[in-house]
Formats: sequence, structure tokens, C-alpha cells
Amino acid sequence: MAEKITTSADGVLNVPDNPIIPFIEGDGIGVDIWPASKLVLDAAAKKYGKTIEWKEVLAGQKAFDETGDWLPEQTVTDFRDYLIGIKGPLTTPIGGGFRSLNVALRQILDLYVCLRPVRWFQGVPSPIKNPELVDMVIFRENTEDVYAGLEVEAGTPDAEKLREFLKVSFDWNIPEMSAIGIKPISKGGSERLIRAALKYAIDHDRPSVTLVHKGNIQKFTEGAFIKWGYELVRNEFADVAVGWDDCNGKPGSKLLVRDIIADIAFQQTLTRPKEFDVIATMNLNGDYLSDALAAQVGGIGIAPGANINYVTGHGIFEATHGTAPKYAGQDKVNPGSLLLSGVLMFEHLGWTDAANDIVTALEATISEKIVTYDFARLMEGATEVKCSEFASAIVDRL
Ligand code: NAD
Repeated sequence: MAEKITTSADGVLNVPDNPIIPFIEGDGIGVDIWPASKLVLDAAAKKYGKTIEWKEVLAGQKAFDETGDWLPEQTVTDFRDYLIGIKGPLTTPIGGGFRSLNVALRQILDLYVCLRPVRWFQGVPSPIKNPELVDMVIFRENTEDVYAGLEVEAGTPDAEKLREFLKVSFDWNIPEMSAIGIKPISKGGSERLIRAALKYAIDHDRPSVTLVHKGNIQKFTEGAFIKWGYELVRNEFADVAVGWDDCNGKPGSKLLVRDIIADIAFQQTLTRPKEFDVIATMNLNGDYLSDALAAQVGGIGIAPGANINYVTGHGIFEATHGTAPKYAGQDKVNPGSLLLSGVLMFEHLGWTDAANDIVTALEATISEKIVTYDFARLMEGATEVKCSEFASAIVDRL
């Protein structure tokens, strides 16, 4: 009988061999990449005597068509009850319409970490010379910053009211017809994100955590983020970690915590990738940086991601790309992003052997130049296969 994953008081997961895991197939190419990913995940789990009972939950277009609701309450309840889930991409109309379902799920379940590991897999075409040097794990804050949705539209009574308030209370002159957004960066929000990054670095034997920020300009928001980060290191991690200024950049056997301004981070992650391990940053910087880094190692078709609350134990693992509507239902696209999100989920569940086997089989498949169209057009002598065929080829090599 399949069982629920549970959590003990300290957020540690208790994972049975036959867990129930909710999944959202996803809109657009979800119909292609989910079955392909599931095939590989099930085969790898089976090797180690594990069976997942996948429980479909609805969101997006499929939910709307079946229930008239884009994000049914039952879906949220299931993710809350079963703790760990996985999802394909969901449609978000630009400028109006319903709120992003992805953002809604992150906020409702308070999934404060967006985890994006960026590493190169053998054989994957890359635009840089030494993609094997790229091995970074981004911790992006997921609930605050300009993504909090606190915005007023230019020319509306609310915008005028806020503009007036800012003039009267702060003597700030905001031009007429301005849209205004609020950027909250809290001490608690910064600390819990940086704490998760530090714990991850310690658990995975990573030598450094780099805090990426624009604190030179946005002193009280992004500047505070790093100040609180260094204080956290001193207050909670002094026995195992040390800030750059507290050791002159010489941490000995401890984890080194340093910071870098966001614009130079974009340069140096490209020119000196070896110097970056774990990266902790706020929402907007993290959004840009994770896609930029993913481009170095093969692009969004193969970049995994997860949204996690390490305190409650909730986590939703997800493809980082969108619904690519023009390819939907063609059995054509690369299932790599969703599959590797499943691998990340297995690692999170402690199923490391099954996770490693999938990565080895994926690398073997790509090294034999058996790839989907997106990689085939970048490789000489490649055999282009369908999404489902790519998954079968991986299973054959498990
Ligand atoms: P997209 O990621 O869907 O597609 C952009 C392009 O990337 C595609 O045309 C395709 O060339 C390529 N691509 C994407 N996934 C691929 C894959 N698995 N294999 C090979 N190539 C792939 O971005 P978009 O076109 O800007 O957005 C389409 C929709 O997806 C929008 O509604 C958007 O809001 C939504 N979206 C959802 C998520 C999410 O659910 N996490 C993320 C981003 C965008």
C-alpha cells in the first residue's frame, strides 16, 4: 500500500519506499515531457525496490477545462498533505488575466527557496569553452522583493494616493503618471534563505557561499540582505563558516561566505566559474542569474528547479521553462528539465543511487548523440529522436 511522506518536527522527511507523490502534468508541452520523465523516474526507482504512486492533481488549462478553476483548492490541499510534488509548466498570460499559478503555489505554501542547480552533463552542447567548470547551486529567495506583487498602475487613484503620501511623508518627488512598486526585503526572509544555502553548502561539502546583491545602490534592501547574512554566519554558523572580512578571505577548513555585486557576478560566473559554488540571492537577481547560468550548460531545456520550504518540509519540483505552446503535443521537445527536476526530487528524498543512475544514463545517451531537436541542431552527427524515444533510450541505459 502506498504511503504518505511525512516530516518530523525539525523538517526532516520520512520517506517510505512506496510514497504517494502528487504531480501536475502541465500545459502545452506538459503532455509530452511528463510521460517521458515519469517513464525514466519509475524505471530508476524500481531498480532500488521503490515504487511511486503518482497522484494527478490539476492546475492550469486542464484544471480550468475540468473544474472551471485554474488552481482548484484540492490541488493546494494535496500538495500541503503529501509534502513533496512535481509539476510541468503552466500558462501565465502576460499583463492581466489570472495571477501566475507558479507564484501562487509558491506563496500559498510559503516555498521560500527556489533551488536551481546548474551543472554541465557530459555531451551536452554548450556555448562556452569549459562548461565542465560550471557547477553552481543557486538559492533564490522566492517570496519577497519586487515579485511580492505590491504594485499600483500608473494614473490610477491608488497610484496618486501613494504618490501623494510619499510626497507628504517623505518629501519624495515621484513623477506624475508613474507606476509604483514596493520592494520588501525582510530580515526573517533573508535569514531563512541564507540559512538554507549555508546548510546545503555544509551538507554537500561545498567550499563557499556567495551572496549576490546590488547593495551598493539599494542600500537598505539588498545592502541589508548581505549584512543580515554575515550576522547569521557569526550568530549561528561560527563553528563551521566564516565571512570574508572576518578571515581576510582565508577560511581555513571552514565554509567561506563572501558577497559580490550582481552585475560583476554575471561577468565572473562566465569568466571564472570555478570560483562559484553555492549562490544565495534575492528574487529578481536570482531569476535573471539562474537563466543566464543555465545557458552556459545547455539552456532551459535541461535546467532543473525546485521550490522548497525547509522548515515545513514542503517542496514542489518543476521544469524551469514554460509551456512552449508551438511544440505542444508533437512529442518533440527535450524532457531534460522536468526529468532532472525529478532527479533533484529523488536527491531531496534521499534516493541518491536512483538519482545518480539517471544522470549517468542521461549522459550516456547524450554522449552517443541520441538527442531531441534542440540539441541535435547544435551537434554534428546527432541522431534526432522524439521526446518519448529519448526517454526510452535513457531507460535502456539505466
Ligand atoms: P517557454 O520556456 O515556454 O519557451 C521558449 C522557447 O524555449 C520555446 O519556444 C522553445 O524553443 C524553447 N523550449 C522551452 N522548453 C523546451 C524544451 N523542454 N525543450 C526544447 N526547447 C524548449 O517560454 P515562453 O514562450 O516565454 O512562455 C510560454 C508560456 O509558458 C507562457 O504562458 C509563460 O507564462 C509560461 N511559463 C511558465 C513557466 C512555469 O510554469 N514554470 C515558466 C516560464 C514560462
